[in-house]
Amino acid sequence: MTKDTSLNHRIVLNSRPDGAPTPQDFRMETENAPVPGDGQVLLRTLFLSLDPYMRGRMSDGPSYAAPVALNATMVGGTVSRVERSNHPKFKPGQIVLSNAGWQTYAVSDGSDLLPVETADHPSHALSLLGMPGFTAWHGLLKIGAPRPGETVVVAAASGPVGSIVGQIAKIKGARVVGIAGGAEKCRYVIDELGFDACLDRRDAGLAQSLSTACPDGIDVYFENVGGDVFDAVLPLLNVGARMPLCGLVSQYNDRGAKSGVNRLPGFMMTLLAKRIRVQGFIIGDHYADEHAAFVGEMKQWVADGKVKLREDIVDGLENAPEAFIGLLQGKNFGKLVVKVSQ
Ligand code: NDP
Repeated sequence: MTKDTSLNHRIVLNSRPDGAPTPQDFRMETENAPVPGDGQVLLRTLFLSLDPYMRGRMSDGPSYAAPVALNATMVGGTVSRVERSNHPKFKPGQIVLSNAGWQTYAVSDGSDLLPVETADHPSHALSLLGMPGFTAWHGLLKIGAPRPGETVVVAAASGPVGSIVGQIAKIKGARVVGIAGGAEKCRYVIDELGFDACLDRRDAGLAQSLSTACPDGIDVYFENVGGDVFDAVLPLLNVGARMPLCGLVSQYNDRGAKSGVNRLPGFMMTLLAKRIRVQGFIIGDHYADEHAAFVGEMKQWVADGKVKLREDIVDGLENAPEAFIGLLQGKNFGKLVVKVSQ
């Protein structure tokens, strides 16, 4: 972890990845720490969130968000401490949620800062009580809308979004089947998170084992990954099933469209015949209307021990590129967070 308080270390986008990102796509730069102007605060990063959406920001193809420019600091949500303040609303020592990105220091005019209330566990502002928790809450409850006794399936089930989706679905009385990468993650999902079943996404017999694990079909498929998991899910979707389309992490490193069998006509026919509702969403659209309700409900569930989350904490900003590359391969186990400073 960086200790020098006069220097800013930042990781910039060195080149745009061709397929999976490599360490050479990132570069560490060191410069003097910025000086806050009038109405600004100086922030020191404590925790940096690493999230799959960052892969999209590294490319300059069409997207819902602008790409990171070459040689610019990688974007990212942070929990930061106010080191100096020329802003009436913020005091030195205060802990805030910020978008400081992959760097040790940043200045802000305060407009993007939110106070962090979870003083005993500040990194939860990036996970349970932050963007991934809100994503799970919105996608499952506003789009998936599971009813008691229905079957919900979610992949990346030990990660922040998937694990919270499954736990909320259990609260709502659904039967929950997770899919995760490997036996250890699956054990955790069943034993610690209380899912009814969990299957290994790398298992060659996934389609068959999913069918066995979902004897009444699937009513809600919370789509996090696409690819082989989606292929296994599609034939099992029930009439009237709902599919919150949250992410497609298995495709994020693809180079353009894949050749092969065109599955679109079969998919469209299934949607029609089974009256299935698919809805994509980007969580940033929902803060103004729903965030306060999410925070209220989630805080209670966390306090009651009904929703919890495993964190995968990596020490040191310099290790962020490798950890991020691993995230896209499933090497993380829980919410991936970089501890940048003490
Ligand atoms: P995770 O921390 O769970 O990390 C991604 C996980 O995806 C990996 O750990 C791995 O889990 C799984 N994975 C990686 N490669 C593949 C693959 N080829 N096939 C299947 N699974 C794979 O991520 P999050 O919980 O933060 O995010 C989950 C999804 O939600 C992502 O698609 C993300 O982009 C999306 N998202 C969307 C938002 C929105 O606004 N729509 C907001 C936030 C997230 P394992 O090895 O266990 O399978």
